[in-house]
Amino acid sequence: MKYLEEYREARIVRELISKVKDSVNGEWNVMEICGGQTHSLVKNGIIDLLPDNINMIHGPGCPVCVTPQSIIDRAIKLASQPDIILCSYGDMLRIPGSERSLLEVKALGADVRIVYSPLEAVQIATDIPDKQIVFFAVGFETTAPANALAVVQASASGLKNFSILSSHVLVPPAIEAILSDPDNHVDAFLAAGHVCTIMGYEEYPPICEQYKVPIIITGFEPVDLIQGILMAVRQLERGEYRLENQYSRMVDRSGNSKAREMISEVYEVSEQEWRGIGRIPGSGLVLNEKYESFDAAKRYGIPIERNEIVSDCIAGEVLKGQKKPIECPRFGNGCSPESPLGAPMVSSEGACAAYYHHRIMESL
Ligand code: SF4
Repeated sequence: MKYLEEYREARIVRELISKVKDSVNGEWNVMEICGGQTHSLVKNGIIDLLPDNINMIHGPGCPVCVTPQSIIDRAIKLASQPDIILCSYGDMLRIPGSERSLLEVKALGADVRIVYSPLEAVQIATDIPDKQIVFFAVGFETTAPANALAVVQASASGLKNFSILSSHVLVPPAIEAILSDPDNHVDAFLAAGHVCTIMGYEEYPPICEQYKVPIIITGFEPVDLIQGILMAVRQLERGEYRLENQYSRMVDRSGNSKAREMISEVYEVSEQEWRGIGRIPGSGLVLNEKYESFDAAKRYGIPIERNEIVSDCIAGEVLKGQKKPIECPRFGNGCSPESPLGAPMVSSEGACAAYYHHRIMESL
């Protein structure tokens, strides 16, 4: 199968679902890491096609959802300074900080601009030399290479008015944090195919071995997802725990060497705060010594303040897969994509937004 449509074909989906049903005897909890996979599972009704003894748990793989409130507050403080233009991806503007969102600050007069690429922010810095341009750089391993490239280009151009506010997160340490949690009940993981396209998969076999858990690198289309679930279930039924690569049309062992080199050139691994989860050692990226002059956090010295979560938002439990969005008392009851209380309702990749759009709204 080479083309996208073949990965959405109903006949193949039905055949794979039938194989899943034939293969499963036990009760298994399978976590898809990526918010894009959550969105596809819910949107395409795959969760409803699966047998009852396979419980899909939605993981913390939505970068907007796991960006801590303290970093949003920091971005708001930067955006509120009159000589700063803060550039960001659109989803970030609606995430609630402890008092307001970037969108509300923009409405109050701050110069907050939506960009589609960090290189747009570099161009703005070139075009407006008398303003400081801060790019709010969030995301997983997938967005890190482009953000690193922006820093390299700004450095090569001698730009003194460009910096980034970085909140990058890494997938393998998050999987280990979930598996180490005493309340963990995940039996197998679908790893995010696009992350592995960049990073390869050499980090995963030791995790499989240490925690005795199957990890299946999986794509995003319905056929990808059900095939990944089938591979996971077959391993679980046999008592196996290996890495398998369902997304082999895109992913190989070593990933994209140029993208990895770009990340290594600019970043170093650090501890990182995850919204609703807490600090995870080695799960983030910060600018290394060579490029630290482009670090907005250091340039402006705005401290990280206490990380607050809205009291009745259970985003932490949702992001760790301990509760489903519909178990939240505020789901559709004061929390909706139009008026989100927590980050998982903001982003199109957030589990709460996916359930709201594709399960609840369709049934109204
Ligand atoms: S439904 Fe809203 S309040 Fe509940 S966990 Fe999701 S984002 Fe938080």
